[in-house]
Amino acid sequence: MHELSLLTQVIPPVMAAVTARGATSCQAVGLVVGSLSGAVPEALQGAWPLATAGTVLEGARLEVEPVQAAIWCPGCQAEVAIDQFYALVCPACGTPSGQLTRGREFQVAWVDLDTT
Ligand SMILES: [Zn+2]
Repeated sequence: MHELSLLTQVIPPVMAAVTARGATSCQAVGLVVGSLSGAVPEALQGAWPLATAGTVLEGARLEVEPVQAAIWCPGCQAEVAIDQFYALVCPACGTPSGQLTRGREFQVAWVDLDTT
């Protein structure tokens, strides 16, 4: 599963942060996922229990925060949200742009620790 390998890359630093703060478990983890990151939120939820089994994150809730991809359009002189099917072409005026301003995010944004 593609999402499982993505998760196993971001989980070790979270585990390190949790244990460094002396927490024994974790309530929830917030994950920012860009629409062009290649990860499907539903599949991430499915892979999460597998990726965290046997770790300090086991049982924690995964909260996916989706980010809509956007490009900087030189034609519109504006940041324009794009659907992934448009690739890197402005949906408003059709100008191609190689300047992806967001959409490839895949990172842990926050961790809700249980410090009791
Ligand atoms: Zn445009």
